[in-house]
Amino acid sequence: MTSASSTPLQDMIPECGAIGIDIGGTSVKGGLLLPDGTRHVSVPLPTNLDSGAGVFLDDLAHWIGALGCTCPMGVGVPGVFAPGSRKLTDSPNLKTLEGCDLAQELGQRLGREAASIRVGNDANLAAFGEQWLGAGRGHDDMVMVTLGTGVGGGIILNGRVFEGPAGRGGEVGHIRIHEGELAPIACGCGNHGCLETFASASAAQRLARNASLPTDLSQLADAARQSAGPARDLLETIGMDLGRGLAQILILLDMETIIIGGGFGAALDMLKPGIQEGIRERDFTARMPQILEAELGSDAGWLGAARYGL
Ligand SMILES: [Zn+2]
Repeated sequence: MTSASSTPLQDMIPECGAIGIDIGGTSVKGGLLLPDGTRHVSVPLPTNLDSGAGVFLDDLAHWIGALGCTCPMGVGVPGVFAPGSRKLTDSPNLKTLEGCDLAQELGQRLGREAASIRVGNDANLAAFGEQWLGAGRGHDDMVMVTLGTGVGGGIILNGRVFEGPAGRGGEVGHIRIHEGELAPIACGCGNHGCLETFASASAAQRLARNASLPTDLSQLADAARQSAGPARDLLETIGMDLGRGLAQILILLDMETIIIGGGFGAALDMLKPGIQEGIRERDFTARMPQILEAELGSDAGWLGAARYGL
């Protein structure tokens, strides 16, 4: 059997193309992917929910309609879904859309079957995008970890995105890596010791500030690249915590590939020694996966959504 990741695009995508939509907290990204690999990326649509969900969905449908085709379509959205339906039930960044069945709402407005529109969790679909057309090409078992405001994640098993019944699969940011005195900062989820309180971009900025180092993370990484010293030590410490979290995924799922994305992912060259040390500390099996930097940047979400729609 040929895995999806090695199937040529022209065998997967119909002639008219595939549409991918990535609804973010501030803007909607998306476009049309053609069978020859050409990407028609639309000018992002601001996620303006001030006038309510209905007006936003009208604008979104109009924006999608401008792509001029009714080809397969996937939509990524930051949130989780009611099991058994595709109603968005919990989306801290898009509260106004909670309770919405996006496939039905968009289907009605675009004059197409709701069943022809597939809606999934944005972090899971970004992982799917990287696996399809980015750093994960050819890797059917991988986890993608996104280092941004929080730590997001997506898991690909046997070339398929693992979602769980509500789209909650892959919440790697809330893996507990420390306890007690070592975990003084409360996570947004209410617990202490979550990976994201140690290894997100926001956590790195907090730790840099506490150590009187640059809080601009690209400056911090540059300082670490230039010479041994406090900046390099800090990135190694953060990398180690990331590795401790990743070790738990490896023990459970035995991944061959880990992809690191998000803005802070650009510091991967300086984080990697720590990541490997953290994995060695917590994973008794002495395996070491490939650790790669994401390639698609902010296009991963919509491309993964397009793949999901197929
Ligand atoms: Zn948490």
